[in-house]
Amino acid sequence: MQTITHFINGSHTDTSERTGQVFEPATGEQTASVSLASAAEVAGAIELAKRAHKSWSQISPLNRARVLFKFKALVENNIDELAELITREHGKVLDDAKGEIIRGLEVVEFACGIPHLLKGEHTEQVGTGVDAWHVNQSLGVVAGIAPFNFPVMVPMWMFPIAIASGNTFIMKPSEKDPSSVMRLAELLSEAGLPDGVFNVVNGDKEAVDTLLTHKDIQAVSFVGSTPIAEYIYETASKYGKRVQALGGAKNHMLLMPDADLDQAVGALMGAAYGSAGERCMAISVVLAVGNSGDALVEKLLPQIKALRVGNGVTPEMDMGPLISAQHLAKVTDYVETGVAEGATLLADGRELTVADHEQGYFLGGCLFDNVTPEMTIYKEEIFGPVLAIVRVDDYAEALELINEHEFGNGTAIFTQSGEAARHFCHHVQIGMVGVNVPIPVPMAFHSFGGWKRSLFGPLHMHGPDGVRFYTKRKAITARWPKPKHAQAEFVMPTMK
Ligand code: NAD
Repeated sequence: MQTITHFINGSHTDTSERTGQVFEPATGEQTASVSLASAAEVAGAIELAKRAHKSWSQISPLNRARVLFKFKALVENNIDELAELITREHGKVLDDAKGEIIRGLEVVEFACGIPHLLKGEHTEQVGTGVDAWHVNQSLGVVAGIAPFNFPVMVPMWMFPIAIASGNTFIMKPSEKDPSSVMRLAELLSEAGLPDGVFNVVNGDKEAVDTLLTHKDIQAVSFVGSTPIAEYIYETASKYGKRVQALGGAKNHMLLMPDADLDQAVGALMGAAYGSAGERCMAISVVLAVGNSGDALVEKLLPQIKALRVGNGVTPEMDMGPLISAQHLAKVTDYVETGVAEGATLLADGRELTVADHEQGYFLGGCLFDNVTPEMTIYKEEIFGPVLAIVRVDDYAEALELINEHEFGNGTAIFTQSGEAARHFCHHVQIGMVGVNVPIPVPMAFHSFGGWKRSLFGPLHMHGPDGVRFYTKRKAITARWPKPKHAQAEFVMPTMK
């Protein structure tokens, strides 16, 4: 059986004693084992990345960008192979896998503009004969830790901007689906990236903890579940690193009675059930305002029952399996809890079987009606194809529920009222907001991030925040003419 190793200093390396198992979720079969790096292996990779930083940081931003231009072309040429690697290990359908690669490539495209993005600011004559400016310099070795659900896109939120800014990078992918990022590492080398600039260490808590505490890691970008995000933020901050740690979500759609229902239902189907609900921006709750709930259920239910669920590599599928047997068990437990707590289960995905894939981790689309804010299935992130409808009397009640929820990643309002939409955008306590757009993921040149317990740290991912996160400012004040009076001054310097 294939062993997925590490990619350190430009080559595949492996001295790990421990391994994990990688499964194909559609069949339930183990397809590979993955090396789990020891603390010593991670430290070795950091040392090599630190050496690589010395020269990489001195290469002009334009020449760093040129490597990314080549990388972009290579990813495009290999998109089918990359998508299949994602689907085999994650389960999502091939077109969705391609979609995440394309969203990741948009960050590469943004990072290709790094010569412009790194420019500092200059003020001439801040005092007589004195100029002042600031420059943005790289941090050194930075680390990224990714979740299983976007094995290509989430790493691409991080490393293109980090390396374009002159840093070197250690990526720790999810141990559940590491192959696609290993392929990205090879493509970066093929594009001309010097050895040691981008490294992949596979592993689990031991590898992560080494990254969080090692003296030569300057910054940590994390995406994953909220408890781990909080742990990453606290630990890495304690060890003096910059941290951005993105966590879980419970994204609400606020459905107003005046919304175009066909548009809303179409949007909801993709946002709730695409990628089997394993997206941090998936819609998992609909707040049906006034009398909108009955009509919603009437239109939604037949579409849920018609979902085509199967192996993600089979054309024409809407939804693949969940990531693992453990996660399938967790999600079906939530369905049982919802029933036990008194919600009305209108569509029960547990009834689904997929022919010739009896060992796969499949769950059909589930729909709960009459969910209340006290229920576990309302409060907690399920991360599966389970949609909850909460019926509310009016817009104000809906807004309050969203604002009181512990998560603050994404939300959307569906309405034809500009006044309601405007009020919503202004008052909602959520990081990313859609108006008649179900999954309002910002483009690469904006920044992505939630509020409340969906993000720990001040800076969001990619866009201007990404550049800010991976660079440090240096302010320079210079005077060239010989000062007339060179004697010491003991008062606070003010410009004359
Ligand atoms: P996870 O938190 O289990 O794992 C994420 C990463 O942390 C993995 O690389 C894993 O190896 C590592 N890890 C796990 N446990 C650890 C521990 N105890 N100590 C140190 N490291 C540990 O998340 P997941 O199940 O892979 O991904 C799903 C979660 O990610 C969901 O909660 C989802 O909402 C979230 N997510 C959030 C965003 C966002 O932008 N906010 C995007 C994608 C996914």
